[in-house]
Amino acid sequence: MIIKPKIRGFICTTAHPAGCAAHVNRQINYIKESTSIQGAKKVLVIGASTGYGLASRIAASFGLGADTIGVSYERPASEGRTASAGWYNTVAFERAARAAGYIAESINGDAFSHEIKQETLKLVKEKLGKVDLIVYSVASPRRTHPDTGETFNSVLKPIGQSFSNKTVNTNTGVVSEITLEPATQEEIENTITVMGGEDWSLWLKALEEADLLAEGVTTLAYSYIGPEITEAIYRKGTIGQAKNDLEATAHTLTKQLERYHGKAYVSVNKALVTQSSSAIPVVPLYISLLFKVMKEKGLHEGCIEQAQRLFETLYSGSTVETDEEGRIRLDNWEMRDDVQQAVKAAWSEITTENVSELGDLEQYRLDFLQLFGFGFDEIDYELDVNPEVDTTL
Ligand code: NAD
Repeated sequence: MIIKPKIRGFICTTAHPAGCAAHVNRQINYIKESTSIQGAKKVLVIGASTGYGLASRIAASFGLGADTIGVSYERPASEGRTASAGWYNTVAFERAARAAGYIAESINGDAFSHEIKQETLKLVKEKLGKVDLIVYSVASPRRTHPDTGETFNSVLKPIGQSFSNKTVNTNTGVVSEITLEPATQEEIENTITVMGGEDWSLWLKALEEADLLAEGVTTLAYSYIGPEITEAIYRKGTIGQAKNDLEATAHTLTKQLERYHGKAYVSVNKALVTQSSSAIPVVPLYISLLFKVMKEKGLHEGCIEQAQRLFETLYSGSTVETDEEGRIRLDNWEMRDDVQQAVKAAWSEITTENVSELGDLEQYRLDFLQLFGFGFDEIDYELDVNPEVDTTL
């Protein structure tokens, strides 16, 4: 079948297997060309198929030389439909990692469930033994609670009062004003249940009970802070409440990991185009302005550059540099004063007419297409490809 992008709002319903493999291989090559680091050797990544989780898994194998198990929730190809990008990414990653001599096993299913946790523990025990790094990078709009079976939906809304600001339709380039109504108390709580720290801590508990945590174990989860422009919808909005909960969970987990001399960190990462961030109103316009400024200043990074910097921060020195709240700050370049001043100045002027000039909408669109395996020069998109890639190596 000839596979072309089919974009519906902020999602693309198709993905290209060869393009996804190209995306994974580019990230692998970046890591291979970076300084190698001594660090974890047995790594579990939860949310491992796209975005920050995939980049962490790639950096763990090809940078640290680690064996990995990845958990994700992706759709295989069926009846003329392509698989999801994360499915193809996982196949491509496993192929490359195994060819390089690393253990690379993956589980596809709902990480929030008891069943997938148990299945993963079994595989960890069989293939890795004890793990010394657990990366938690799940981003999901809903979560079915494993004990009650109740399903909670997260929302991206401001808290307390409505919020109006500029936003862009990244497909048409039209800049408009959007008003978002405040969340109810129930919506705030549900968002915390989905994107807060509970599931991360359930994973650690399950691993500890199965005696699968190594001495000196580290666990990481990812957060975001961002500037004043996005504050009402992000950090002071419903998702920000969930991130506060996630960050508090890091402190609780660090206490629990004391007996292993282990530590839980939240890393505050840079705003990037991923399937999750493209769904947040206002944020894509901010990202396209940010990209323009950061590129001009030679500071632009993608997920893989951030993952490399994260492992350098984590494993290169005798102490891990954090902020006052104990968070690793990979958003330090994004939040630099000169960067934020430039973004703010552009923000006040941005309109449909000048968005291509003041922002880097082209890079945004390319990054978005590449998430699904499109937009790679080395791929011939007119070629007939089999959407059901062979997963048996
Ligand atoms: P993403 O959408 O690219 O990845 C989400 C991952 O979670 C995928 O591997 C997906 O398969 C997995 N997943 C979703 N639901 C699952 C489930 N029920 N069971 C198992 N796996 C499931 O997202 P991302 O942007 O890389 O986000 C990862 C983390 O990084 C999030 O905590 C996010 O808040 C944080 N973060 C993102 C940004 C950004 O700009 N994208 C910035 C800073 C921090």
